[in-house]
Amino acid sequence: MRGGGGGMMDDGGVEHAQIPNSFGHELRACLRCRLVKTYDQFRENGCENCPFLDMDKDRDNVVSCTTANFTGIISLMDPNRSWAARWLRIGRFIPGCYTLAVSEELPEEYQVKTACLHSCKNCDATL
Ligand SMILES: [Zn+2]
Repeated sequence: MRGGGGGMMDDGGVEHAQIPNSFGHELRACLRCRLVKTYDQFRENGCENCPFLDMDKDRDNVVSCTTANFTGIISLMDPNRSWAARWLRIGRFIPGCYTLAVSEELPEEYQVKTACLHSCKNCDATL
């Protein structure tokens, strides 16, 4: 018996992020959640934790919201229970590959978008 507690394995939802299918120089990390995927994966599917960054809709967003400038990769299969995830403060993100540190920040225009999303969900119309 594994799991227990009646956990459902629902293939319909996003259970975990895509795992990078290559570890070359095209790897990039999301500046907001530090998820690591290839440029192509971000461009095609966006960031699973940050869909509002619209990376899958505009590749300029991929360039702006991700960086190739990061250090170390950690693979998280169970962020809820991982001490490393808590330490990195990514425990509420979905399982996937994450970087330990990025040296850049999310551009201000995207930070506003993110902050807005958290503080007021209805302000899109008034902006
Ligand atoms: Zn992200």
